[in-house]
Amino acid sequence: MGVLARGRVVDAGRSADWLFTDRLGGQSTGAYAELNLGGSVGDEPDAVAANRREVAGMVGCDGLALVKQVHGRDVAYLRAIPGEPPPADAIITGESSLAIAVQVADCVPVLLADLSGGQVAAVHAGWRGVVADVVGATLERLSPRGEVSAWVGPAICPGCYEVSPEVRDEVADAVPEAAARTRQGTPAVDVRAAVLAQLRQHGVTGEIVGGCTFEDPTLYSYRRDTTTGRQVGVIVMRDSG
Ligand SMILES: [Zn+2]
Repeated sequence: MGVLARGRVVDAGRSADWLFTDRLGGQSTGAYAELNLGGSVGDEPDAVAANRREVAGMVGCDGLALVKQVHGRDVAYLRAIPGEPPPADAIITGESSLAIAVQVADCVPVLLADLSGGQVAAVHAGWRGVVADVVGATLERLSPRGEVSAWVGPAICPGCYEVSPEVRDEVADAVPEAAARTRQGTPAVDVRAAVLAQLRQHGVTGEIVGGCTFEDPTLYSYRRDTTTGRQVGVIVMRDSG
């Protein structure tokens, strides 16, 4: 309950545990049921806090280090759980046992591990984040020393993600791989294909994890439900394999 997919990578005397949540098994009720990790969506703060502790516990930590996501390209380098989450859409840490997480409901959660360099990262990228290339900004800041592992979590698929022709063109101008059509043939954006292309530009091969948030009732989807919660992608590094 609560885990869509998880795994571990070991290299260079370090390990990283990554995990994508689903919406099952938490304290939230109503439109936010059950495992809502989003703090500014209208849910009960006590329920969100309990859900965050539960997810942190799944990766052996006491809490989650989060940022205030603003659909930009700023990267926050965190050494501890911030008292006030800084505005940013990506997090990097070199700290062992600090669980960093991004909150999503249709946007793409990306988790990165450069274990040779002793750093992990979590990125939130919707279509605005693709245009801003927050993935590229994160990889430049990460400046990896070895091979980077990348997991691209559940997000809305192009078949379900209708956008205006203007938005489709703006995103496709930035990343041609993003241009897509819905099942009805109307303009769409393929945000996961765009993120994979931006990873490839930096020599990183991303692994797709999970399906379409809009189609999977065990995941939160803003496009589907509007008033809803957020799942997270979370990653934590440890100094021993
Ligand atoms: Zn879909």
